[in-house]
Amino acid sequence: MQTRHSDHLDDVLRHIAQHERFVLTSHARPDGDAVGSALAFCLALRSMGKQADVVLHDGVPRIYRSLPFADQVVQSDRVMGSYEAAIILECDSIHRTRLQGLEDRFLISIDHHVSGRPFAHVNWIDPHAVATAEMIFRLTREAGVKFSPEIATCLYTALMTDTGSFMFQGTNENTFALARELTLAGADPAHCARGIYFAHSEAKLRLLGEALRNLHREGHIGYCWVTRKQMERCGALEEDCEGLVNYVLSIGGVEVAAFFREMPDGRYRVSLRSKGKVDVARVAENFGGGGHECASGCSVDGPLADAVRAVIFQVGRGPSVQ
Ligand code: 5GP
Repeated sequence: MQTRHSDHLDDVLRHIAQHERFVLTSHARPDGDAVGSALAFCLALRSMGKQADVVLHDGVPRIYRSLPFADQVVQSDRVMGSYEAAIILECDSIHRTRLQGLEDRFLISIDHHVSGRPFAHVNWIDPHAVATAEMIFRLTREAGVKFSPEIATCLYTALMTDTGSFMFQGTNENTFALARELTLAGADPAHCARGIYFAHSEAKLRLLGEALRNLHREGHIGYCWVTRKQMERCGALEEDCEGLVNYVLSIGGVEVAAFFREMPDGRYRVSLRSKGKVDVARVAENFGGGGHECASGCSVDGPLADAVRAVIFQVGRGPSVQ
């Protein structure tokens, strides 16, 4: 697999060599790349003889709980313990982790988002990487760690989910080379896919039905939403909303899809997806969010009609992909 040399990678490795006790974390409501990359690097650090733990504010969403060692992830709103350094993955601020107790620690940030910001003491941000998992792969390999089937499974799942099953913009020959290496190291692609795409809760499917009842289209923009009441009726959790936006994007002629979830405070959590012509990272940044050109998120003030208007207006202003 071809890789670019990075001074930042060397920096991260140097700091890993200098410390013994690490805590790893990522953003709240973690996705597959957040969970898979954190678990994989935790295992890699342990095999280097380091102490390492994963702490996530929201714990591990149901669909990722079959990942190796997922049951060891600590769900907490505070990092406690004598960790010498915190490694924050695919996250642009301490705030997005929603964890207390990180402020005074030595921070290492590893992120692949175009909207990534250097907030830590060491910042390795590579928007060319299709997933944080790609960066963790490089780091693990440079550290001389053997890829166990468990590490490979976590990284493969992260790669598969963050590339939309190898379909999103940015997927290239390197992505498949990486998938190959992970498969050779013991990741089972069918098993990984089964755990994610064929393991939904009934509540999620019922929620999909509710969301599609609220499906609307304005030109090349498609959108739908779910209210708190609908979520309660279905017995759905926040994590059951993950991926629903993709059904809207699957409509022919829709270039940008938006999914709105009503939050307890009356604001709306928005997931944005683009087929490539519109840069939705820039759209999300208008509302204090961020992400990638083709997948981003943000929170917008309600009521729903105002939230929808505001987002459609910003999409219509049309920052196109450079
Ligand atoms: P999702 O719609 O799945 O929540 O998020 C899509 C992408 O946008 C993910 O890569 C996620 O990390 C990023 N993202 C979602 N919400 C935010 C946000 O509020 N701020 C930033 N910086 N990125 C976000």
